[in-house]
Amino acid sequence: MNNVKIVIVGGGTAGVSAATRARRINEDAEITIIEMSNYVAYPISALPAFICGKIKDKNGIISDYEEKLANIYKINVIKNSEVTKIDDNEKKVVIKNLKTNTTSEKSYDKLILANGSKFGVSYKNNCPNFFKITNLDDAIAIRNYIDKTSARNITIIGENYFALILANAFVNSGFIVNIISEENKLFKELDDEFSFLLKEEFSRSGTRVFLNTTIDRYIKNENSVIYKLELSNYSIDTQVVIYCKDLKPNTHLAYQIDIPVGDNGGILVNENMETKKQDIFAVGSVAESFNLITKENEISYFLGNAQFQGRVAGSVAGGVPLEFKGIIGTKFLKFNKLSIGITGLSENTAKEKGFDISSLTIFNGNYERFISGSAKIHIKVIIDNKTRKILGAEICGKGEGVDKRLDVFATAIYSSLTVDDLVNLNLCYTPDISTYKDPINVIGMVAANKLDGISNSVTLSEINFDEDLLILDIRTKIEYQKEHLLNSLWIPLDEIRKRIGEIPKEKIIYIYGHVGLRGYVAERILKGAGFQKVYNINGGITSIKISENMK
Ligand SMILES: Cc1cc2nc3c(=O)[nH]c(=O)nc-3n(C[C@H](O)[C@H](O)[C@H](O)COP(=O)(O)OP(=O)(O)OC[C@H]3O[C@@H](n4cnc5c(N)ncnc54)[C@H](O)[C@@H]3O)c2cc1C
Repeated sequence: MNNVKIVIVGGGTAGVSAATRARRINEDAEITIIEMSNYVAYPISALPAFICGKIKDKNGIISDYEEKLANIYKINVIKNSEVTKIDDNEKKVVIKNLKTNTTSEKSYDKLILANGSKFGVSYKNNCPNFFKITNLDDAIAIRNYIDKTSARNITIIGENYFALILANAFVNSGFIVNIISEENKLFKELDDEFSFLLKEEFSRSGTRVFLNTTIDRYIKNENSVIYKLELSNYSIDTQVVIYCKDLKPNTHLAYQIDIPVGDNGGILVNENMETKKQDIFAVGSVAESFNLITKENEISYFLGNAQFQGRVAGSVAGGVPLEFKGIIGTKFLKFNKLSIGITGLSENTAKEKGFDISSLTIFNGNYERFISGSAKIHIKVIIDNKTRKILGAEICGKGEGVDKRLDVFATAIYSSLTVDDLVNLNLCYTPDISTYKDPINVIGMVAANKLDGISNSVTLSEINFDEDLLILDIRTKIEYQKEHLLNSLWIPLDEIRKRIGEIPKEKIIYIYGHVGLRGYVAERILKGAGFQKVYNINGGITSIKISENMK
């Protein structure tokens, strides 16, 4: 078994990870990667920077990875070759050489399908400036076209993560960018307020974002070059169109031999990444992944999971047992100064999946206010009311430390931590990296207070304005004069004890401060004074303003 023949279809993230792991644990295995493009083992996340010219030469991407596969890992790589058929009885694959158009066969003991996914193209055409982007070959084609024509006006069709990282790269390189999508928001895994903030940031950069928009017509010149797009309401000029939607696993090989495919369109696998067919594995974005929170399958189109799944399959195929536990879905994006991300479930998804949840928002400094450059981090957590476990977190901010906090949440969710654990996490502190209660600790406290009934926090949308209520603004005079909710009663927090008689006890009181902390203190003072129906508006006027701007 030591000289097992392992054949891997696809030399992308998952395939290369499988191959190198198999080699590290089995020196005698014969390992072959069959890749249909001209390149293997390059960092696909470098493609946006390459297309936009930030990475000048493709050699800056391909580096010497391929040589390392041959020299260090003793892995055979067959490029420009497509696996067109699997014969699982004879245990062999049919390979078509895409340069010579000839076919050959290769036998295997273990077959790993790592053939990824691709963007569907609904608009079929021969236009020289209409592209999709799945691999380095596609990226080179786009870059060559841009260099040749000096195109500066780019249209990206799609609103998903990949469309946005591409848009980000173009914007940062000074291109004019249009994003067009039929969906009603960008990065739809995010809850509406985070997606809204991201869209605002794109719009501020001059990017034109067209949501709820279909392309009625592609207008071309005599050389089939698209120069205008007719949209639902108007038309826009463009020089390049990149199609980034309808990402789908490449399951045609699996269908040929009746390997079961799941409801999400990916190949079904167990925790060893084995399909239902003996000795055939599937890894990366061609396979379905088990979500540890929902306990349902989904497809992960992200690098980290592809890499880990490849490692597991390579290990098992090479003879050492290993399991892939599942995913929680961590996604992070940077646009200009805005960092934004999600891990676990959004509020919308948690509700859809039937969880009984609380959702809490804070705006906390990334580090102490007295250090220059301190910036707010906006955090929302989703808590399971029954278990107090964290189901999800969304986060954004323009300062440092946003990614660090998202990673802590990802670790907390993976480890099934509760809000009480968040309060107790002993995180690092000096004034220029955190606040003395880290934002993670703070949101743990806010959530625990809510679950323990110490604070009744509500969002603006939960307030029924037909009730007999009073909105109480407890901020300073300067803050109140700058902006406030109409018909609110203004009593600054430091006057509340002596002016408590001005607040009608029989009404429902909704308090707001700037971000929620002073509101909580006021809520506790009123409750201590015998007020029964007192609520603190979560996230204060900062949250209220985001909700109002979204209308
Ligand atoms: C432009 C771009 C930027 C990205 N940036 C990020 C990022 O910043 N962060 C992140 O988490 N994810 C990112 N991703 C997603 C990430 O690349 C994928 O999640 C990951 O590559 C999936 O790995 P995979 O091995 O399953 O598929 P792939 O890496 O796509 O590899 C599949 C390979 O199989 C080959 N193949 C397909 N069919 C056959 C066949 N029949 N025979 C032979 N070969 C075949 C393909 O040519 C391809 O090389 C990005 C993706 C793109 C397109």
